[in-house]
Amino acid sequence: MRRMFRRQIRKTLAQEVPPILQEANFAFSKGEYGRAAELFEQIARVAEGRGGPRAPLFHLQAGRSRVLAGTAALGIPSLKHGLELLAQRRQFQRLHQFGTRTINELNELGLMKEAAEIAAWLKSVLPQIPFADAPAKRPVLPTHCPSCGAPLRSDEVEWLDGVTGECGYCGSPVREDN
Ligand SMILES: [Zn+2]
Repeated sequence: MRRMFRRQIRKTLAQEVPPILQEANFAFSKGEYGRAAELFEQIARVAEGRGGPRAPLFHLQAGRSRVLAGTAALGIPSLKHGLELLAQRRQFQRLHQFGTRTINELNELGLMKEAAEIAAWLKSVLPQIPFADAPAKRPVLPTHCPSCGAPLRSDEVEWLDGVTGECGYCGSPVREDN
């Protein structure tokens, strides 16, 4: 009975998620990075146009998709722009998190010059305060958002309470699958 109820909630939430976002996440999870990049670029542009809180994440995912598609030159501007938006909005903890992750990913892909450039910029804009690197122990979330299909990282979601995270892509509440 409870399971059924939960499934119904998910179904309701899923209908509120824009199909283009689900399509973008689906393409990304299948490794169709070029397609995912095109969709995320569109989503990011619209979100930024209306000052949406998720615009930075969409730009970052667009950039990440371009880089993974092997077209780093097209992706770096999106990565920088996503991070710049976080800096403009003074979301420094997120900037620290996403910036560090972006730099690590670029290094892993052998894009050392691009990574170093972003690292230098990051250092110049971040205030000199200590940031929490190791996230507090959190429940394990499903690997993907049940509503929009985005990959979930427990160190990246906004926590609504001790057990409920908020998907950064669609805003749906997500809880540990058990
Ligand atoms: Zn979601």
